[in-house]
Amino acid sequence: MEKISLIIPCYNEQEALPIFFEEVTKVMDNIDADYQLIFVNDGSKDNTLNILREFSEKDSHVKYLSFSRNFGKEAAMYAGFCNADGDYVAVMDADMQDPPSLLPQMLEILHTGEYDSVATRRVSRQGEPPIRSWFARKFYKLINKISDADIVDGARDFRLMKRDMVEAIVEMSEYNRFSKGIFGWIGFRTYWLPFENVERVAGETKWNFWKLTKYAIDGIINFSQAPLNIASWFGMGMTGFGMVVLIYIVLRRLILGDPVAGWASTICIIIFIGGMQLFCLGIMGQYISKTYMESKKRPHYIIAESNDSGVKKVR
Ligand code: UDP
Ligand code: MG
Repeated sequence: MEKISLIIPCYNEQEALPIFFEEVTKVMDNIDADYQLIFVNDGSKDNTLNILREFSEKDSHVKYLSFSRNFGKEAAMYAGFCNADGDYVAVMDADMQDPPSLLPQMLEILHTGEYDSVATRRVSRQGEPPIRSWFARKFYKLINKISDADIVDGARDFRLMKRDMVEAIVEMSEYNRFSKGIFGWIGFRTYWLPFENVERVAGETKWNFWKLTKYAIDGIINFSQAPLNIASWFGMGMTGFGMVVLIYIVLRRLILGDPVAGWASTICIIIFIGGMQLFCLGIMGQYISKTYMESKKRPHYIIAESNDSGVKKVR
């Protein structure tokens, strides 16, 4: 019989987890396939771990992995991929924003054999602050222009994938992970399933505006060299412009014998150029810091506790 693995990253989800568990069990029991629920406790500070222990005692479909600290959703998803053995694998949020009721339809589409994965995208962003939606849309436009990771606006991490795709993802063992980019980068045939945005059932979002901005910048740096190119083009442009101005000033001096004037404009130029140099250095610094982290080859996650003794504890 076919087996489906669902990976659920959880960070302080004590309110949402019972609701999610009930819903997902209802849906999975009606699907003609074996299944496994892999809950990854990402260093929660609330009662999440105890709830997961209870789940695992009363339901043998449950496997939980508990991190030694908060490693972030990307690490939690990676741990899930490394420890999932289903023929089909999906990542789902614990807050019901990825409706489990879509799963049967997603599985059906994969069964036609025409696609390797079914991905979901929100067609509305109801209930989200308008500024956040605006920045999100701009971000997707930009990253699609400057990188070869093809990312759809409103794409969620929720997608059901065949085994081959999961193996490709596990192979992409980079430390700085940006899953939306990774899913697009590995290719395969993907069906996009649209759905209306659902608000989280309980608890609070773990993303504030600052965290999202950092995530967006990480995404760009991880999948595009465009900022580096822009920096070097800008440098070349400024050099050309500087030469022209230099020639102009020398000629003016020779022809008109103009005495020195314009202290203010000189200072402005110095500050401007200084600023640009720092900015470009900063861009280089971003790439160097990523390279630095990659070169350390630190593990993505450390599992402190699990109900399955066969898990890969560090990876
Ligand atoms: N999450 C996680 N580690 C973190 C932050 C979030 O595992 O450091 C999980 C969280 O429990 C949830 C999912 O990632 O299942 C998405 O988080 P959230 O709902 O807060 O994000 P939003 O839907 O608001 O983008
Ligand atoms: Mg959410």
